[in-house]
Amino acid sequence: MSYSRVGVVTGANKGIGLAIVRQLALQYPKSPLNSGSFLIYLTARDKSRGEGALKDLQEDAQLKKAKALKVDGGISEIKYHALDVTDINSIKTFTEYLKQAHGEGIDFVINNAGIAMNGFVDTNVVKTTLGCNYYSTLEASHTFLSLLKPHGRLINVASTAGKLGQFSEEIRNRFLASKTEADVTDLMKDFQSAVDAGREKEAGFPSAAYAVSKAGLIGATRALAYSEKENGSTALINSCCPGYVNTDMTKGNGVKTPDEGAQTPVFLALQDIKGATGTFWRNEQVQEW
Ligand code: NDP
Repeated sequence: MSYSRVGVVTGANKGIGLAIVRQLALQYPKSPLNSGSFLIYLTARDKSRGEGALKDLQEDAQLKKAKALKVDGGISEIKYHALDVTDINSIKTFTEYLKQAHGEGIDFVINNAGIAMNGFVDTNVVKTTLGCNYYSTLEASHTFLSLLKPHGRLINVASTAGKLGQFSEEIRNRFLASKTEADVTDLMKDFQSAVDAGREKEAGFPSAAYAVSKAGLIGATRALAYSEKENGSTALINSCCPGYVNTDMTKGNGVKTPDEGAQTPVFLALQDIKGATGTFWRNEQVQEW
């Protein structure tokens, strides 16, 4: 079956990712991009957690009341697909599947999957955190970009934790001057080396792997958007912060509900963003980095 629009959400079995899928289905009927049948891929690395989340959505009272899903005569359909963003074979398997199923391309991807590890900052925490939030998210971004329809959208869920105020002036200037992803990756490598040597503060970085990984994601998303635009692509590529949201990641300390946290990523997927690309968003508005 062919669909008018197709979207993908990563890390969607719980928290903000699950709320993004839910809000996509609720908001699509009134979106200016509504062009008929809509398929959303709820992806997760664990099959039982992914399928459990899908079942919860199919039984969700608000979705039922709004007749948001096809099961109730709505225009949106949700399917589960496996995706572990840190496993290149899993990315390849999913993108091959998408190519076969949607030869005409897909409309958007929201790279929401991310981790925040317990503990301060040491070599392994940095390696694992940068691995998932920076390197794997970028790997997935590149692979998904090749599947986007013209004017398609790529949305990377970063964080205000990645804002530049916490870096030394020299590192901040290097981030701001980064024209290519390689420039940003050099900063990630320098952070890793500085942590390995126990001197990240002297090198101008905060002692916080998560914050640096999200700064890297904001910077690399910006660089990717610029290079795609220069090469003639019409894709809109942006990063965003969902706000401080009450999920497992924030251990109940967040102030927004997951549905509230989903608003900015969903806005970037479904609303008229006036051609914005390479920008960082929060509260449905462009923010300074
Ligand atoms: P949660 O920890 O509640 O959920 C994270 C999701 O990512 C889970 O579904 C998890 O799956 C998934 N995930 C983790 N690693 C992988 C992987 N390798 N492959 C696929 N999925 C994976 O976090 P939140 O919902 O709070 O966070 C969602 C995003 O929002 C993250 O990128 C986070 O950094 C960002 N963010 C969150 C903020 C907040 O206040 N909560 C603030 C700013 C940004 P599983 O269940 O299998 O572990």
